[in-house]
Amino acid sequence: MKLDNQVAIVTGAASGIGRAIAEKFAAHGAVAVIADLNLDAANATAAEIKAAGGKAMGVAMDVTDEAAVNAGVAAVMAAYGRVDILVSNAGIQIVHPLEEFTYAEWKKLMAIHVDGAFLTTRACLPHMYKAGRGSVIFMGSVHSKEASVLKAPYVTAKHGLIGLAKVIAKEGAAHGVRANVICPGFVRTPLVEKQIPEQAQALGISEQDVIKKVMLKETVDGEFTTVDDVAEVALLFAGFPTNALTGQSLVVSHGWFMQ
Ligand code: NAD
Repeated sequence: MKLDNQVAIVTGAASGIGRAIAEKFAAHGAVAVIADLNLDAANATAAEIKAAGGKAMGVAMDVTDEAAVNAGVAAVMAAYGRVDILVSNAGIQIVHPLEEFTYAEWKKLMAIHVDGAFLTTRACLPHMYKAGRGSVIFMGSVHSKEASVLKAPYVTAKHGLIGLAKVIAKEGAAHGVRANVICPGFVRTPLVEKQIPEQAQALGISEQDVIKKVMLKETVDGEFTTVDDVAEVALLFAGFPTNALTGQSLVVSHGWFMQ
């Protein structure tokens, strides 16, 4: 299979997009490491992957905690002796007009998305460099390319991940390590379900209008992107055999954003 014998750490994989990526990787032969805040939730996802015939391991990891990230990657190395793929996916959303954001909210969001990407990548790269191969994948967003009201720190963080991936692509090339960013449109995960009533309130419109007139307005067909759509792109980036595909960001959004 495409990812046979490879070990993939996926952060935020107890839920939503990360979970679908972990399932997809396991279905293609990888050991899927479910790294998430809560060990029970991570283990529950790992147990379901194993019940379906895949290989998986749960790890407790707050991606903003340097020691926890290093310990999680060390535990994976102790168990399997390799890390081939990192998907830095853990994320949250907070919506307010910019002037209503507290500094604490700003820092919390930036820490999970940006510090988390840095810390997890830094912990994995030495092992990838030693092996002479690896694939680093960041979960960006259409908001890596496009702005929306109410999402100042999210848009800032998601744009920043493209810059970080480009640096890793340049530094990693000599070691066979690639770095790419997936940029999904709206996907109906808990992160988005929470935003629908919040945006309805902030914008003074109905929840139905948030879906139709805000989230899916610019798509070509009024459809949500699915977790499986995103997992397919992750599989492409993870399994690509050469440095030809590196430093890229791929938008999967039903045409919301075209580049
Ligand atoms: P989700 O809420 O379903 O899952 C997020 C996961 O991240 C949860 O399991 C949560 O426990 C975990 N997490 C949160 N903080 C963490 C931390 N500090 N350390 C470790 N894990 C942590 O959300 P989702 O929609 O699957 O989002 C996953 C990623 O996809 C995020 O980066 C998000 O920005 C991005 N994204 C989502 C959409 C969408 O429409 N859902 C679109 C584009 C990009």
